[in-house]
Amino acid sequence: MIINRRNALMGLAGLSAAGVAAPAVVRADQAAYTVDDFRRVRKFDTHVHINWDNTAFAEQAVADNFELLTINVDYPDFPSLDAQGKVSSLLFKADPKRFHFATAFSMKGFDQPGWAEKTIAHVEDARARGARGVKVWKNVGLIERDASGNLIMLDDVRFDPVIKRIEELGMVFINHQGEPRNCWLPLDQMTTKNDKAYFSNHPNYYMYMHPEGPSYEHLMAVRDDFLDRHPKLNFMGAHMASLEWSVDALSAFLDRFPNATAETAARMGQLQYQSHREYDKVRNFFLKYQDRILYGSDLTMNPDADPAGIRKEIHDAWLSHWRYLATGDTQAIWDLDADVKGLALPKPVIDKIFYGNARRVLGLKT
Ligand SMILES: [Zn+2]
Repeated sequence: MIINRRNALMGLAGLSAAGVAAPAVVRADQAAYTVDDFRRVRKFDTHVHINWDNTAFAEQAVADNFELLTINVDYPDFPSLDAQGKVSSLLFKADPKRFHFATAFSMKGFDQPGWAEKTIAHVEDARARGARGVKVWKNVGLIERDASGNLIMLDDVRFDPVIKRIEELGMVFINHQGEPRNCWLPLDQMTTKNDKAYFSNHPNYYMYMHPEGPSYEHLMAVRDDFLDRHPKLNFMGAHMASLEWSVDALSAFLDRFPNATAETAARMGQLQYQSHREYDKVRNFFLKYQDRILYGSDLTMNPDADPAGIRKEIHDAWLSHWRYLATGDTQAIWDLDADVKGLALPKPVIDKIFYGNARRVLGLKT
């Protein structure tokens, strides 16, 4: 498949970090957009990975009226961080109004002297080149170990100087913590086909098979401890902050951490799973937290992708997500083998989730 569906269907967030007053809440009964409005309305995808110097993705963003945040990730299946950074810079230089990027740092040498200084220099250099954020991936918490063989966790004090500098530079901190809760369940209890396929094919990340590893609850608690220590951080929880399985759990998280936001990348299926069962509850969640949720897709592409094919896949994914959030249309959802009704969120709410929140969180003028 051209698009890595895990990445394709995987995200970011940050609200009041700049001290922006929340706009007035929109009434639930205001009019919704239609499918015909899709191209006309300006939109922002806050979680994509453009890793190759291939113009197809950018061309589709122009055609579908999207601004993008492409996120560099310390991920072994992606090109090196240097190579990702170069592609991001090229995109940004070509059209800085439409294309934005977030950097990532390497964990190599984490417990050796000088790691923090070197990492701060890397973040400062990326900021000077236009980076809006810094991503920390799930390797912190699940993969990376220190010299003693212990897993390195996000709340490790050795990150603190770097986090402080990210705050000073006004950048958003994007965190992919752990995995979706499905990762700790047997395959037949997982709620989405996407997760069943991904964890079947990536047994190294399938925590149900690794009971010696950290629990889901522990990883969430570590992230929350981290946020308690960094209350002013502009924190964006990728992939619905890994609380994708329950809008109640995500509500509690957003209530506890007023500077945190969450983005939807690769977790639309889990939202649809919930709204298919409890439509009003999920719709009311979006109404209540309309300033705290950002749209992200996790779309990416392989280096050998056929341009027409990749453009169609990207367009189809974006349009499907628009139909779900912005319209009341019912559509067949592959991930659930179910027909799912759209949330028909009011136009001003969609304008925030699909655009305004991203501009605010990334520190861009609205
Ligand atoms: Zn991603």
